[in-house]
Amino acid sequence: MDNDFYINFQESSEASIKKGDSQGNFALKNCREVFNDADSICARLYNARMRAIDSLDDELNRFEMQFSNKHNSVYWANDFNDVFEGLKKIFKSEKTKSVRLPNINSSTIFRELGIKYFLSDQKIELREDADIQFFVVDMMFSDNGSMLMLNQTNTTLSKLSNSRTNVMFTTIDSIVGSSEWAEVIQQLTSYGKGCGMQDMIVFKGSPNCQNYLFIIDNQRTNILSKKNIRKVMTCIDCGKCKDVCPVYQTIGDEPYNNVFTGPVAHITLPFLETFESYMHLPYACTLCGACESVCPISLPIRDMIIDIRQSFLSDGVIDKKDRRKQNILQKILSNRSKMNSSKFIRGQHLSSLLSSDIKKSRVIPPLSQETFNKLYKVSENNEK
Ligand code: SF4
Ligand code: SF4
Repeated sequence: MDNDFYINFQESSEASIKKGDSQGNFALKNCREVFNDADSICARLYNARMRAIDSLDDELNRFEMQFSNKHNSVYWANDFNDVFEGLKKIFKSEKTKSVRLPNINSSTIFRELGIKYFLSDQKIELREDADIQFFVVDMMFSDNGSMLMLNQTNTTLSKLSNSRTNVMFTTIDSIVGSSEWAEVIQQLTSYGKGCGMQDMIVFKGSPNCQNYLFIIDNQRTNILSKKNIRKVMTCIDCGKCKDVCPVYQTIGDEPYNNVFTGPVAHITLPFLETFESYMHLPYACTLCGACESVCPISLPIRDMIIDIRQSFLSDGVIDKKDRRKQNILQKILSNRSKMNSSKFIRGQHLSSLLSSDIKKSRVIPPLSQETFNKLYKVSENNEK
């Protein structure tokens, strides 16, 4: 193996980690077994990611300069149409008839792009021994133009090195300034997902093959332009917060009607999709904070959700009448003792503040005397 091209490759580990830990801190607890100063490492990773996100244009250009050479090229894609146009050009120049896709269910980016439908439209066959290999890049490192690919195997490594053409996909926010973070990200995402240690490849191309990398925006700059919530882009997608979010645990994936689900989606989806379709999501959060207590990089999810709610009011996303009602609701509902004692609320007049759409589609139950978080904990203990 040529070290100039493969910087690091870790063999599969048999470590079996139990799934989920609703008591929290699972990712961090296990990270501590690997790194002595895990807390400070996690805080430094957050800062390093934040620096990259704050100067995203420069970091992406730095990455491109380090990555591009006669074997490697970058395709910038504003949306999936740019990806598909780029792919058509590659297919034409490489005379492609077949593609090897990694496991589509574990590849959010392929589901986001709807890649399977595109390939079937183009009459491209899916095969293990295909002309072109597709890969997902989990993180770009701008210091040396290398890329982190998680959840890989020896077979993938051999395919990466022996294939004539590799096409790789990532998103603009998957970047950090130094490849030294590779192992930390590998640890945190593996433990966060509750699986054994994921194999990883850090790759910066190979002279044997042509590598094309699509760096996709797909509305992510909408989040970047919001100063108070752009920190959500530092998320390393470990998925740990989903294990403890009472809302996600209760409703599951389906109601989101999207490839993005869980606490982070409550922040990002209104900006990645449309306000009309996903405006309700920031309100589908009890602000219990369970997600933050397990997040390895301590993302302040509640603060961001509150900021979005406030920006919906101040930016006029919510119409005037609803805004007035929401202001009243906010005042009442942010005070538990007021909620429990107010005659107005106990008298069920609360429903007069809810939109007629909501009232049409469901029966409004009386307000509980306890917080959602407290009730959820009681029901969890009863189940044990
Ligand atoms: S704060 Fe909101 S998103 Fe986070 S765990 Fe609680 S309900 Fe879920
Ligand atoms: S927000 Fe959730 S998915 Fe992102 S790093 Fe934190 S725990 Fe992991």
